[in-house]
Amino acid sequence: MAAITLKDIVKRYGDGFLAVKGVSLDIADGEFVILVGPSGCGKSTLLRMIVGLEDITSGELRIGDEVVNDKAPRERHLAMVFQNYALYPHLTVFENIAFPLRLTKGQFTEDEIRAKVEHAASTLELQDHLQRKPANLSGGQRQRVAMGRAIVRDANAFLFDEPLSNLDAKLRGQMRTEIARMQRRLGTTTVYVTHDQTEAMTLGDRVAVLRKGELQQVASPRGLYEQPVNLFVAGFIGSPPMNFLPGEVVDGELRLPFAQVPLSDDLRSRIGERGVVIVGLRPEHFADAALLEDGKRDAGHTFDTEVDVTEWLGSDLYAYVPFETSHEVAGTLEELDRDLDGEGLRTQLVVALDSESRIRDGDTA
Ligand code: ATP
Repeated sequence: MAAITLKDIVKRYGDGFLAVKGVSLDIADGEFVILVGPSGCGKSTLLRMIVGLEDITSGELRIGDEVVNDKAPRERHLAMVFQNYALYPHLTVFENIAFPLRLTKGQFTEDEIRAKVEHAASTLELQDHLQRKPANLSGGQRQRVAMGRAIVRDANAFLFDEPLSNLDAKLRGQMRTEIARMQRRLGTTTVYVTHDQTEAMTLGDRVAVLRKGELQQVASPRGLYEQPVNLFVAGFIGSPPMNFLPGEVVDGELRLPFAQVPLSDDLRSRIGERGVVIVGLRPEHFADAALLEDGKRDAGHTFDTEVDVTEWLGSDLYAYVPFETSHEVAGTLEELDRDLDGEGLRTQLVVALDSESRIRDGDTA
């Protein structure tokens, strides 16, 4: 196992396109790091540079203490786990796991191969399935066979490129838990690429958010959620996404499209007495006032509004609340929209309420 260190890594493709624009990231030995971002942000390119399938235009890549920019993939001792696990259907589980060892042509005796495969299989709880073919395994077991192949090679790290994106939602959930469990048990350094923020938030020790080839923030899932460094990260992490509202500060009071709220001293000192601001409100930070106890209701800010559409999901009730924007803050919204590639400009609020809420479409609440 080993740490992986990226220093000012740049990738310019042959056609001149700059896909990765100077990314620096320290991945500790045994750490599970997720690379996440929208399509085209450069996350696969970054992973492929780490594994050696893509040249590094400039910057320095270290695995352990060694600079590996010019090393062939094989010399880096990394194990890539692909989307479809790339198992051989005609080979047994035993032979699938043994495959990378047999490729070394004579480096290991038959006894050594057997010992390594059996060790990997018992770590992965596959010892009872060694004679089966992949077709007779569950998705989770197949995933473990793919990891078994990585284990027998004593890889420095596991690299995953969207391994679950072809699976249906239920299986994806099961496999996610499986990967997390196995990674914790093995303690192998792992880099995992996904565009799925649930995977990003549940799997990793730390999450690196990329956008247009640039690293936006690297933090624990909770750190990203609670202290996003910019609007992009704030809007990207969280489902349903954070609401962005135009607000005006007038004489120390924050005027939102549906409410006026006195500002805390801390916010007042940061924003000043006047100005236009963007207010980020997580959907789950709203509640149906009718369901709150008096003490809690008084502690918050209550507002009356019209509800456009509701969606009942069993655990939550999402309510969509339209709002109007005054002319004065329209400019700020346009700026926000440019910053978020058109994702920011919304004229409705998404509110996640307790599923017991009786609010329905068209209500005023
Ligand atoms: P996705 O989630 O869609 O796979 P990604 O974040 O993994 O996206 P990359 O595959 O790393 O994105 O691609 C990053 C950018 O580099 C994209 O704009 C892509 O079009 C571009 N790109 C990828 N491969 C090449 C190539 N061989 N030549 C030129 N540009 C490329």
